[in-house]
Amino acid sequence: MELDILPLNLPSDSHRPLVIAGPCSAETEEQMLCTAQALAQKGCHLFRAGVWKPRTKPGGFEGNGEKALTWLQQVKTSTGMLVGTEVATPEHVELCLKYDLDMLWIGARTTANPFAMQSLADSLQGIDLPILVKNPISPDLELWIGAMQRLNQAGIKRLAAIHRGFSSYDNKLYRNTPTWQIPLELRRRVPELPIICDPSHIGGKRELIAPLCQQAMDLGFDGLIIETHCTPDKAWSDSAQQITPDVLNYILSLLIIRNEHQQIDEIVDFRRQIDEYDHQMMELLAKRMRVCRQIGRYKRDHNITIFQANRYNEILVKRGAQGALCGMNADFIATLFETIHEESVRQQMDIINQ
Ligand code: PEP
Ligand code: MN
Repeated sequence: MELDILPLNLPSDSHRPLVIAGPCSAETEEQMLCTAQALAQKGCHLFRAGVWKPRTKPGGFEGNGEKALTWLQQVKTSTGMLVGTEVATPEHVELCLKYDLDMLWIGARTTANPFAMQSLADSLQGIDLPILVKNPISPDLELWIGAMQRLNQAGIKRLAAIHRGFSSYDNKLYRNTPTWQIPLELRRRVPELPIICDPSHIGGKRELIAPLCQQAMDLGFDGLIIETHCTPDKAWSDSAQQITPDVLNYILSLLIIRNEHQQIDEIVDFRRQIDEYDHQMMELLAKRMRVCRQIGRYKRDHNITIFQANRYNEILVKRGAQGALCGMNADFIATLFETIHEESVRQQMDIINQ
């Protein structure tokens, strides 16, 4: 057993996934209370707000620290919601315990650092709070599991993972690439560990929140953590990705929660991984075809023939050999690339005959 997991015991409605909502950062008492009251009215039970903010560069808003913990306490007493924040050091943990927070999460930058994780785990020894562990910024499942194992060794069993996507150099659509097969592999390896999706940090922009939430539900995630702010455009951090409590409620009301009565057996999990890989293959094929069309335009403008036998042979031979090295039949790979090549030629013919 890689991890020893007990139920989180956090409140959620039967018809909805577990939802944690609240601003990226605790900015002012007024912003916290107005956001929290609206969320509580819409039936939210779990409130988030960052008290210490890890910023990529110095000079940004780094959080209000201890003062903001008093606002979280006010949120809790005035709305009845349970409250949580990000902790990165033992001092943060100590203060959160002093202010009676109900759950803590560990940020992506902290999960990535085993020294920081170990000192956090030491400071949490014997504390019975739900701890949510965000994935490390790099796509490294072992590091993610390792971070949770350190907490486990300190006696923490009410654990959940938060999938917030992975940083990548070349990324246009998402702020952090989802690479869904990593949380899905985590699900396969530790089936009883709840996985919560953070569409706000994956998407980085409002328009992506709803489709990402649906995707997470379709993949069988257990919950969502969504940055919500009473006036998102005025937010002091992550403004582009925050939504109002009204919009959150609307998104949640449209979510289709599929009734997966089958047990979550290994086959279901493997199939999800296959779907994800197929999706990636489609994206790659589309990218490859785009380049082929660019070549087609070049050939057209420079009067070069479309079919170049040497190049075609080179592709079949090289890919066949590569396929064999990866344990696949060389003929199968050659046939696959013949088919791909056929479609590339067809697309280039279209361009030349335009
Ligand atoms: C956050 O939740 O506001 C945050 C800083 O997230 P992450 O650690 O995923 O970047
Ligand atoms: Mn944020």
